[in-house]
Amino acid sequence: MNKSTGLVFFPAFDWSISPTHPEREERLLYTRDQIMEEGLLDFPNIKEYKAQLALKEDILRTHFCLPAYENVITEAHLIAAGSAIAIGKAWHEKEIFNGFALVRPPGHHALHITYGNRGFCNINNEAILVEFLRKKYEYRKIAIIDTDVHHGDGTQDIFYHDPDVLFVSFHQDGRTLFPGSGFINELGGPNAFGTTLNIPLPPGVGDNSLMYIIDKLILPVLKDFEPEIIINSAGQDNHFTDPLANMNVTAQGYARLTEKLNPDILVLEGGYAVETALPYVNLAIILALAGKDFTGVIEPQLGNKKLIESKDIMKYCETITSKLLSIWEKKKEINLDELFGKEKFYTRKKKIFYDTEYFTEEQEETVRRCTDCGGFIKYISYLKDNRKSPKSLCISIPIYSCPDCQKAGEDLFYSECNKDNFQQIFLQHKPKDLYLSKDDFHGEY
Ligand SMILES: [Zn+2]
Ligand SMILES: [Zn+2]
Repeated sequence: MNKSTGLVFFPAFDWSISPTHPEREERLLYTRDQIMEEGLLDFPNIKEYKAQLALKEDILRTHFCLPAYENVITEAHLIAAGSAIAIGKAWHEKEIFNGFALVRPPGHHALHITYGNRGFCNINNEAILVEFLRKKYEYRKIAIIDTDVHHGDGTQDIFYHDPDVLFVSFHQDGRTLFPGSGFINELGGPNAFGTTLNIPLPPGVGDNSLMYIIDKLILPVLKDFEPEIIINSAGQDNHFTDPLANMNVTAQGYARLTEKLNPDILVLEGGYAVETALPYVNLAIILALAGKDFTGVIEPQLGNKKLIESKDIMKYCETITSKLLSIWEKKKEINLDELFGKEKFYTRKKKIFYDTEYFTEEQEETVRRCTDCGGFIKYISYLKDNRKSPKSLCISIPIYSCPDCQKAGEDLFYSECNKDNFQQIFLQHKPKDLYLSKDDFHGEY
């Protein structure tokens, strides 16, 4: 077995929300310095890969970019997503045993429909990677474990109806932190019930409770799901010095977590303690990936201190673990009609707030219920407030959809293109790898 670890760095020098924003290029520069200083790239089993550009088709296989692609995407975003793909390709070709895309801008708050920057994210690097791997190499069952302190609401949204993608996120409770979601009752839609698992945690969780949750909940679920690929949405903002959140995890905790999860591919998410956390956490994670001793990586701020967790926190973690494990084990016995109604289509309405530019999207999402596949999804979307945006209809046909759902999605696109209900209509046809708009539809394709 080739036990190499692949790394790609992309600090995105020319992209930032504003010069003093916490999500800025220094996030990766200190890490890169630390890795050079420690001589990690001198190890024969740690290889550096070049950053790459993702293609427009890679983005549109995953997202609807509204009102237009050009409003959402910059070159930095293409390179962050493309670098995750570069690691994915190297992993598939068995050049590496595992790999870590150390890139920014991050992606896990970018939803299926994206209008631009939300929670520092425009497009979802992990989701783009998943759709690339499925389209190019025909992988089917993939697990995404999100270890960022914020709920990975974008990734959850993209795969909420997909029975082949397991999404597990632990995060600081949404009542105390952005984006305010990720509660235990968010478990996936009617075609994928139980393949979304959220573990909201109180402020103050440290290494021991986290290891308990991984050992007693996440690892048994992974073993049961049997994914072909494990992707880690690797956010480092659970660190005890992070300025945006309130957790107590250390570099050692992150390294042990990585060793236990044994992910195939990691994609960097958040982490905003640029000097006190990121260089140490990332170094320890890379050592764990490469099978090296990481026990010497101690943050100067920690020194000989011990971060003690309260009994209440540990008790809470035990309770939520047993609750979620029992939901996971009994998910097939749940009466879905009681939860989602008896109709052929299940609809939910969402208001999505874009915190960078302060606007709100009104969205209605409808999925065709199906026991054979994820069902096609249709969205009606527009912006509220003072912004004028066209009312858009977006239809997504999942890659492993059954013939009935595929045909139903195509028929809806045909019939709506001949009507005037929407100003914009898009079809994301994953099995045919096509992205069509009403404007380029002339009766057939
Ligand atoms: Zn985060
Ligand atoms: Zn179907």
